[in-house]
Amino acid sequence: MSAENRPMPNAALYVLFKAIEEVMGEKGFRAMLNASGLQGYLTNPPPNNLDYDITFEDYARLQQAVEDFYGHRGARAVLAQIGRVTFRYTLEQQPAILGLAGLALKLLPEQAKVKMILNRMEHASTERVNMTAHVEEDDDAWYFVVTACPCVFRERKPTSPACYTTAGTIQEALRWATGNHYMVREVKCMNLGDPECRYRIDKTPQS
Ligand SMILES: [Zn+2]
Repeated sequence: MSAENRPMPNAALYVLFKAIEEVMGEKGFRAMLNASGLQGYLTNPPPNNLDYDITFEDYARLQQAVEDFYGHRGARAVLAQIGRVTFRYTLEQQPAILGLAGLALKLLPEQAKVKMILNRMEHASTERVNMTAHVEEDDDAWYFVVTACPCVFRERKPTSPACYTTAGTIQEALRWATGNHYMVREVKCMNLGDPECRYRIDKTPQS
């Protein structure tokens, strides 16, 4: 597996910091920074801007620390929660990343709303966060497909995908746009050796 260490915007790590601190508390957050070898950021946190000074590896190391702390199974729910919070913080702190400001969603039918959000996230992921992505669709589902993901820098899992944070972010974006809960499942993962991280989003929301 080739792991290309790409740059990411500072704001991506800044928002991940905020999300981990909200979910794990300040003490937990500090412990994660120490465990990931990123303790330098304790006194010198990444600025909330779109300069590309951090890397996939930094981002992955912090997620790996959360996973090591809770264990692979236990970490799933925590990482998904961190992903949901990540969406809210990004919306609040870096709306330019998402390009959702002033979006006239209200009058659109449900499926058009979902499609518009997925298209915006594809653009944000590719153009802003440097995680190249595209959207596919069949009769039952949409697919958010990422072909450059920091998960290649995480410890290899033998059996299950790693990107619960991204799944949580997509889920929260759809909830924000529609008020509904959509099932988002990572069905392929670069951490498992797949060529892409592929998220399947059921077209029918859960009641
Ligand atoms: Zn993945």
